[in-house]
Amino acid sequence: MKGKLTFTIIKPGAVANEHIGPILKIINEKGFHIAAMRMTRLSVKQAQEFYAVHKERPFYDSLVEFMSSGPIVVAILEKENAVEEYRKIVGATDPSKADEGTIRKLFAESMQRNAVHGSDSDENAMIECDFFFNRSERFYKDQDCCW
Ligand code: ADP
Ligand code: MG
Repeated sequence: MKGKLTFTIIKPGAVANEHIGPILKIINEKGFHIAAMRMTRLSVKQAQEFYAVHKERPFYDSLVEFMSSGPIVVAILEKENAVEEYRKIVGATDPSKADEGTIRKLFAESMQRNAVHGSDSDENAMIECDFFFNRSERFYKDQDCCW
């Protein structure tokens, strides 16, 4: 799968603001295939685990509280060079620094409530896909993606 998959979350703020449809439209228009998708809600424990790499950061507790505060949409996205291509259309973590037309520029409310998550490496994409989806829930276009 290396290079072909990434993982995204449409975060609670964007879901609450009815931005699921507009965000998925951008994802499709930019050439990503949605290989798996589900609406769900993280428990506090799941949010702590998902963001464990940030546990020493000052914003960790508030991030965990936010990410477990309401429903989210989780998805596996398929495209050549998926991790990098998706980070490009997501935009900078701080929406005030995000480029025009990026998902965060369009839909983020703040640095924390920044609309979507996107994996930062192939390795983390695999870990994050496995966190939410089993094999029977994945519908790849390219069979090379099956790992
Ligand atoms: P990214 O999501 O762009 O990869 P990070 O991995 O650095 O960013 O951070 C994970 C998430 O933590 C961000 O998407 C954002 O929701 C939140 N976050 C990051 N930095 C801050 C901050 N300084 N204050 C509040 N929330 C933050
Ligand atoms: Mg990150």
